[in-house]
Amino acid sequence: MKQIIVAVDGYSSCGKSTIAKALAKYAGYTYVDTGAMYRATALYAQRAGLAGKLEEVVPILNNILIGFIHTAEGQHVTLNGEDVEAYIRTLEIGNLASQISTIKEVRSFLVAQQQAMGEKKGIVMDGRDIGTVVFPNAELKLFLTASPEVRAERRFKELQAKGESPIFEDVLRDTNDRDYRDTHRAESPLCQAEDAVVVDNSEMTREEQMAKIIEIFDRATR
Ligand code: C5P
Repeated sequence: MKQIIVAVDGYSSCGKSTIAKALAKYAGYTYVDTGAMYRATALYAQRAGLAGKLEEVVPILNNILIGFIHTAEGQHVTLNGEDVEAYIRTLEIGNLASQISTIKEVRSFLVAQQQAMGEKKGIVMDGRDIGTVVFPNAELKLFLTASPEVRAERRFKELQAKGESPIFEDVLRDTNDRDYRDTHRAESPLCQAEDAVVVDNSEMTREEQMAKIIEIFDRATR
């Protein structure tokens, strides 16, 4: 079967990573979560005391080394060799990641690494700009979407499961704010590639969605 690049883009909390991971497993491909790379960069900036002045991270980008490791719990992101998975999934780091991702130099720094990871194909990469900027020639582009309420509800439950005590209205507001920032930033705003296959999963179970995506993938690799 031919090896391809699968680009998975979409709004925050629309189940991109779950689907991308499952598809990578089905295909025997490498999975890359680019959101984790922006989150790890945001964590670096926060630890360096730059949360209120994120642009100051630009001259020190070369101090940041991001990687991925396989653990019993799945893929984890590393920051300068440290497994930082446990620190990057909070609302706070999500917000900082969304802000730091508007900086042009941060994007070029991470996009170059993402493009290098796809050189040999056989990759499923998820993010916001994968089908439009990172791999505009990807053989398969998926654009996932769901209503803001459905996505906020999913995130609310995820945060609760992690032991946090979120307030639903805050999570919904945060989802809308992030959507706004992701779609309105000057640098690589989130938008659907013209040749992307759109999957709205608001009303779909995970199994229904997976069956649909596998069908699309099988057609693309035939
Ligand atoms: O996907 P996730 O929510 O983990 O991403 C965190 C933030 O990183 C997003 O809100 C988005 O602003 C940014 N991001 C991006 N481009 C990507 C992946 C994530 O701008 N390819």
